Amino acid sequence: MCGIFGVYGHPNAAALTQLGLYSLQHRGQESAGIVAVDDTGVASLRRTMGLVSEGFADDDMRALNGPIAVGHTRYSTAGASAIENAQPILARVRRGHIALAHNGNLTNAVELRRDLEDTGAIFTSSMDSEAIVHRIARSTGATPEERLANALAGVEGAYCLLVVIDETFLAARDPHGWRPLALGKLGDAWVATSETCGLDIVGASFVRDVAPGEIVAIDRQGLRSMQAIAPEPLNRCVFEHVYFARPDSKVFGASVDRARRSLGRQLARECPAPDADLVFAVPDSSNSAALGYAEESGLPFEFALIRNHYVGRTFIQPTQAGRDAKVKVKYNPVREVIEGKSVVMIDDSIVRGTTTRGLVSLVRAAGAREVHMRVSSAPIISPCYYGIDTPRREELIAASLGPDELARHLGVDTLGYLSLDGMLGAVPTGPDGYCHACFSGRYPTALPNEPELLRAGALR
Ligand code: 5GP
Ligand code: SF4
Ligand code: MG
Repeated sequence: MCGIFGVYGHPNAAALTQLGLYSLQHRGQESAGIVAVDDTGVASLRRTMGLVSEGFADDDMRALNGPIAVGHTRYSTAGASAIENAQPILARVRRGHIALAHNGNLTNAVELRRDLEDTGAIFTSSMDSEAIVHRIARSTGATPEERLANALAGVEGAYCLLVVIDETFLAARDPHGWRPLALGKLGDAWVATSETCGLDIVGASFVRDVAPGEIVAIDRQGLRSMQAIAPEPLNRCVFEHVYFARPDSKVFGASVDRARRSLGRQLARECPAPDADLVFAVPDSSNSAALGYAEESGLPFEFALIRNHYVGRTFIQPTQAGRDAKVKVKYNPVREVIEGKSVVMIDDSIVRGTTTRGLVSLVRAAGAREVHMRVSSAPIISPCYYGIDTPRREELIAASLGPDELARHLGVDTLGYLSLDGMLGAVPTGPDGYCHACFSGRYPTALPNEPELLRAGALR
């Protein structure tokens, strides 16, 4: 998963972009980058592994001059975790440049890449996004938006893009609308961001979402909109509301906080725990859902798990060893809240079950009498090919264990998931127009031909 943020028409575009990336840090912690384009049309790029707060020195920010900037935070879903795979991508082409930041996964990336390599393209990364840059470089059109539109014809899957072609700023969203992308205004400047919390941090006001299949082009003449690709049935990612986005954001026209509370309330109706003493969240991603559960059930909401916010990125690494170590370093139970109590532990999702299992044993060790686990989404049973790093099916715990086995494996007294219909019905703008493939196994598009190649990032 990734976060993208961009500014057009502000003297401090790169500094604002850095701020925007701070607010999109939750969407990717592996690497970050900013491209800025100055008044003379010269583009500069700075990329770093790790966090936005650590990666950009004063010298870097001074080098990122000019009124146009695009930035990216990355969690790898296609391509390895390495600096050559950090975004934005900046390519010098013909007389100009192309800068590109991508959120999403292309489902025909393997074919796109082979076609390009067969005709001489040289790739410098293993990212699916690089294929789009090559296609833009080769495409023709009277305007930059037409060039981008031509490049995107034949590109399949999930993408939100921020692109700078020379001095034109472009924002594009795939015709299924998988990922969110919002437009805002800050004085005369334009801002584009994956989530609206990025508008808040720079003081910009929300204007509208980029529409599915739309390309927005901004240059000295102002803003132009083009329906580049006819809209297809909407496949907005329901997991953005369940887990990914920040609760202070609006995505797909709805407040994430409201969506999560409603998921929590629906969970309390579907899976009550009438004899429990209290409800607590696995912070932070399930805080709002746990509040919803407490509101609906009438049980008191408590802070029973404390999350360490200073856990370094060593523990956010996408490896099993990293994940195992993470649980104890990241969470500690509050014995005074839990001891002797029958508790409802709310989480937004269970992926591999590793974190959950570790948490349950911590909660038991702190003296819980009974542990009732409630999950504010349906069981995750299938991999995502559209930009979220869910693992292969074999590693998805709910795909291999039935409900009773899973409860035993996790060490809980009872386990309750939200139903698929309950989940989709609880999202304020639901139940239609959402992708739920990882929960239902019903993929809205043809699957990638070589899914494991795509997911392993070995696009060769
Ligand atoms: P598990 O028990 O499956 O190991 O971990 C469950 C936890 O992982 C939940 O707290 C959930 O919020 C979080 N989670 C869900 N999806 C993702 C994801 O795509 N990436 C990361 N890093 N965490 C996730
Ligand atoms: Fe979102 Fe799941 Fe669809 Fe992926 S498969 S886009 S995570 S709903
Ligand atoms: Mg969580």
